[in-house]
Amino acid sequence: MVRQEIPARLSALARVAVILFSGGVIALAGMQSVRDWRAVHAEAVVVDGHNDILSAIMRGHSIEKRRSTGHSDLVRFREGGLDVQLCSVWVSPEHLQRGDAFAKANREIDSLAVIAKRNSSRMSIVRNRRELDAAILGSKLACIVALEGGHPVGQSTDNILALYKRGLRVFGLTWNNSTAWAGSAKDEAAGRRRTGLSDHGRRVIRLLDSLGVIVDISHLGPKSIDDVLRTTGNPVIASHSSCSAIFPHPRNLTDAQLRALAANGGVAMINYFPVYLKARLPKNVGSLCAREEQRLAALRGTFTAEALAQRDRIIAAAAKRGLPTILDVADHIEHAIKTAGIDHVGLGSDFDGIDYAPVGLGDVTALPYLTRELLRRGLSEEDIRKVLGGNFLRVFAKVCR
Ligand SMILES: [Zn+2]
Repeated sequence: MVRQEIPARLSALARVAVILFSGGVIALAGMQSVRDWRAVHAEAVVVDGHNDILSAIMRGHSIEKRRSTGHSDLVRFREGGLDVQLCSVWVSPEHLQRGDAFAKANREIDSLAVIAKRNSSRMSIVRNRRELDAAILGSKLACIVALEGGHPVGQSTDNILALYKRGLRVFGLTWNNSTAWAGSAKDEAAGRRRTGLSDHGRRVIRLLDSLGVIVDISHLGPKSIDDVLRTTGNPVIASHSSCSAIFPHPRNLTDAQLRALAANGGVAMINYFPVYLKARLPKNVGSLCAREEQRLAALRGTFTAEALAQRDRIIAAAAKRGLPTILDVADHIEHAIKTAGIDHVGLGSDFDGIDYAPVGLGDVTALPYLTRELLRRGLSEEDIRKVLGGNFLRVFAKVCR
């Protein structure tokens, strides 16, 4: 496979670069830990399971230049070393009431297509592994169209087919609100709805299986997740869900669900949103995190041991004050690996869909620091490549042929 040959070749080149740029063998010992994590990150195919940039686009933001707000844009995706982004198509409940949810979903896909066409040297929308590999080889961001909530398709299988033809390859059954045929985590937890999938819900799963669309179980209630796993013949993903064992939020996955996902061959992609990461967040947590991010911004782009140590001190002090940090995200990743196994964990930032991000992971450009933290916790380079993207790519290649 083309893709499998590339990392090995780049890896060899990167190792030569480490030796050349570190100024010889003596300096290498001191520099390797400083440079290596950046090389590991740069060589990996990095995939993010969930980003709401399309909602920002629909509100009139341009992602073609660096934005001073939000968490991502085409410039910052590149800086963060991101190769593949699942782009969330999300339609607010008010469009359901107005009856134009399907049209709104199509407008979002139209917008993404227009931006991809205008920036064809920087990004492309991909529908299968071959197109994804071609995008990465061309140094382009590979975007996968992903629905967050099946509401726009209503009860219509024709609508599913229409979105499939437009490039949809990941289908999240619900958002916080249930559909008529699948229960959300929020509604099932509140006992607001008959739980689980209806007969039509099971038909939807079988249709998605036959088309080659990945089912996304994030936002689903526990009974609906069980029903999906009993119905589907394909590996599924949780595109942006963290671990209940660390913080028991209804949006997080229990250890039993993590193990069921592993048995299914799927991937749990860990969400960075602080509200899902830990209990007892301080008051004004968003502005407190933003203040710490400003201190970290002064160190950005400087990779001396001194700058990194200063960065670590700021993050450790923030963690001590109870603020959510990049260390919490790493804790969730470690727990998911321990419970589901190394082949079933990935990243699902929820960037641009969340009010604020953990200290040290303030936007997509900070992603290499997550690789640094995982290396420090003893994960091998091979394991890190699986978490950064390899596990999702396995599912994508299997389902989206
Ligand atoms: Zn979501």
